Amino acid sequence: MKSYSGACLCGEIRYEIKADAGPSRICWCKDCQRISSNGTVNVIFPSDAIRITGTPGKHEKTADSGNTVTRRFCSKCGSHFFSDSSGRPGLTVVRAGTLDAPSAIKPAMNIWVASAPTWACIDQSLDQSKGPPLPPSPAKT
Ligand SMILES: [Zn+2]
Ligand SMILES: [Zn+2]
Repeated sequence: MKSYSGACLCGEIRYEIKADAGPSRICWCKDCQRISSNGTVNVIFPSDAIRITGTPGKHEKTADSGNTVTRRFCSKCGSHFFSDSSGRPGLTVVRAGTLDAPSAIKPAMNIWVASAPTWACIDQSLDQSKGPPLPPSPAKT
């Protein structure tokens, strides 16, 4: 089992994760663009494998899917860390850029590309979905 660690910009909040990383995707939904000014790079972990030092702020929003999405962030510096969806209990999306070693994550797919801005830098070698994530396609040659 691998371990990961991360922190916010100001250092008020740190986290450690003891689990293997789940799927990683780059999300271009409008909500992600609003919190990050770009697509967010996300990786999924079991929620109970994440240990947080400090108390993140929370924001709840009903997604287009109808699920309630709870985003957690540092109340002091505003860095976003985590996103939990009522449609995905037990799993937490972690913003890969907050990891101390983000290169440990390998995004496999761009999602919600239909709402990406025209200047978005999208790696054409990765799978794409215009909307929500799709199952991985057969290996590319
Ligand atoms: Zn902070
Ligand atoms: Zn998104």
